[in-house]
Amino acid sequence: MENRLKYRVLSQPRGTMVMMCGTHDTTPVIRHGVAVATCRKCGTVTFRNRDSFGGMAALFADYRLVGRVEAIGAPAGEVMAFRPPDSSDRSTMDAIPPHRWFRANEHLWVCQDGSVLLLAHRFPLVSRMLGA
Ligand SMILES: [Zn+2]
Repeated sequence: MENRLKYRVLSQPRGTMVMMCGTHDTTPVIRHGVAVATCRKCGTVTFRNRDSFGGMAALFADYRLVGRVEAIGAPAGEVMAFRPPDSSDRSTMDAIPPHRWFRANEHLWVCQDGSVLLLAHRFPLVSRMLGA
């Protein structure tokens, strides 16, 4: 299918580091078999046994890219908007606390408002990796 959240490169941008929170107690939640943990104090999101791109793509594998939005207030220059296949099903999105940007690595942030999932990035390759 077109415009699905994808993960189609084998290598990550050079120097990609996961923004792991080793300081605070974070309890992972499981969605689609993916363990995801967010730290509200650090503003980070991490995935168990997956890198941040792979984790994000696995978590939101059935989300559709609906477009690119203005990056006002976003932590990075390009923001891609995704919607769940069933708009009433927010169970996957709920793994990420709403209305706040969480940093997955130095290239990728995620935010959700209950209906739209936003991925912000500042590395052009990310756009091709995760969407279009
Ligand atoms: Zn933390």
